[in-house]
Formats: sequence, structure tokens, C-alpha cells
Amino acid sequence: MNSLQSLQKVIIERPHTSYRGRFAPSPSGLLHFGSLVAALASFLQAKAQQGKWLVRIEDIDKPRELIGADKEILKTLEAYGLHWDEEVLYQSQQAQLYTELLDYFQQYKFSYNCHCTRAQIKQSGGVYLGTCKDLNLPAQGAAIRIINKYPYTEFDDVLQGKVVVNSDLAKEDFIIHRRDGLFAYQLAVVVDDIYQGITEVVRGCDLLEPTARQLTLFKTLDAKQPSYLHVPLAVTEQGYKLSKQNSAPAIDNQNPQPALIQALQFLGQNPPNELIDCSVTEIIQWGISNWQVNQIPKMQEIML
Ligand code: GLU
Repeated sequence: MNSLQSLQKVIIERPHTSYRGRFAPSPSGLLHFGSLVAALASFLQAKAQQGKWLVRIEDIDKPRELIGADKEILKTLEAYGLHWDEEVLYQSQQAQLYTELLDYFQQYKFSYNCHCTRAQIKQSGGVYLGTCKDLNLPAQGAAIRIINKYPYTEFDDVLQGKVVVNSDLAKEDFIIHRRDGLFAYQLAVVVDDIYQGITEVVRGCDLLEPTARQLTLFKTLDAKQPSYLHVPLAVTEQGYKLSKQNSAPAIDNQNPQPALIQALQFLGQNPPNELIDCSVTEIIQWGISNWQVNQIPKMQEIML
């Protein structure tokens, strides 16, 4: 059985009866407060439903990787009492599966080679108009774009409600394999959410828009779509998202209690004052027992 067939087997056989959530950090830096919020929300949402919580290291973009960040991220999750189920999945180990899916898409004309540069697309208004679709261009130096047969111009988010997406972008044939030879995030994330049998994706609102494209890929693969819950993004006073790229400070592994409590507050969970004198395990336990998803602020951003 090849990888594509085994993925299809997962799609068909995964019962989807029990909850499976995940946290999927890219090892481009250490965890900051914004990543802690996403990790904690996805963990509590899974554990409050006796579900499984998986960790996936999204290391497909080697040039942006910080050497050793994966190990540090895992250490931080442990220090914060966020213990994962099953083995950690590294996307760098999934290359064969991604390649077979790309071959399958190309063979059955679900995708095509594209030679357009970013500058050319910018010139035509910033939206890709399918220029290369019928040109049968050679693979050398090309990006691969999926033929977007199932555009999602809106979707329902468990927390944010109906999310409307820019319809030109929603309809675009988007990139699933980059010109520089790297697998695109959209492809890898969807293949692995299927591969890991994820039933709900809980993450920050910075990934709200890409969700539409991910739904398109699930549909193209004829796979069951997970539900999506996007929690507010922590932004600085100047309105910048905390991110590994803008060097947001890493959270402290030696003293996790204050940040954990702050993350619970950020998620609208009203932790009692006494929790500050408790152990990490006790704080997490309180979080699981008192988790109220409808108390998370329905906002896309919260200023710290
Ligand atoms: N790897 C992505 C990031 O660190 C998150 C992907 C996801 O949760 O879908 O921003």
C-alpha cells in the first residue's frame, strides 16, 4: 500500500467519534505568550472532553528554523503541564506522503505548474487569475497550484461564528508546492490533520483566513473536515501580533505559574486569586475542570 492509499484508509476508517485536538508550532523560535494561549486553549478544549491532545512540529520550512527550537518548545510545554498524547509528529518526516499526494494531484489534473512570480501577480491586482492553468508548463522551477474547485467564501467558526473571507482570495488556485521546492503550509497542515485524525483545530486568529483554503483542500481530498475554533490573538500596544518573527519574549520555563494564570485570564476563564500559590498541575487541573469555551472573548485580537 502506498502513502496515498494509507491516507485514504485513515480518511475512511478513522471513526471520528472521540475528540482529537492538536498544537502545531513551527520551530522558528521559542514559545511566547501568544503561543501559550493557543497551546493552552487547544489542550483544555481537548481535555475537558476527555479527548486526546497531540503535538506536531511543523518543520517544513528549514531556512526559517531555529536549530534546537523543537526540543525547547517540547520542554516548555512540559514545564507548563501541557503533556501530549501519542508520539510527537514532525512534518519533516512526512515528505514522502506529501510528495505522493502532489503526484496524485498532478496525475489526475487537480493541480498544475505555475511560473508566475510574485511581482507578476502583484501587477495583476494581487490575486492570481489562473494564468498558467491550461499552459501545461514544465515542472522545472514551477510552483504547483491546486485547481480550486471548492472555494469557501465563508465558514462557521465555533467561537467567532460566521467568518467571511475575501472572495477573490477564496477562489484563487493557491500554491501547494513552492517554487523554491518547499511544501506549502496549506498542504502539509491539511494532510497532517487528516493523518492524525484531528476532529477540531483550536488556534489563534492569525490563521482565520487560511482556514478557507484548508477547507478547500479537505474537500478536494474528500476528507471529513474538522471543526475550527480560533481564539483571540495577543497583540502589543502598537497592534503587532506577538510572533516568533518579531522576537516576542520567550515564556519562562522556571516560573510557569504567572504566565499560565495570565493565559487563563486572557481566555476569559476567571481563575481565582489563590491559584497563584498552586502547582502547575493544580492550575492545569483547575483549567480543565472549569473550562468554559463560551467565556472566551469573541474577538480576533486582544491588546496586552
Ligand atoms: N505552524 C503554525 C504556526 O506556528 C500553526 C499551524 C496551525 O495551527 O494550523 O503558526
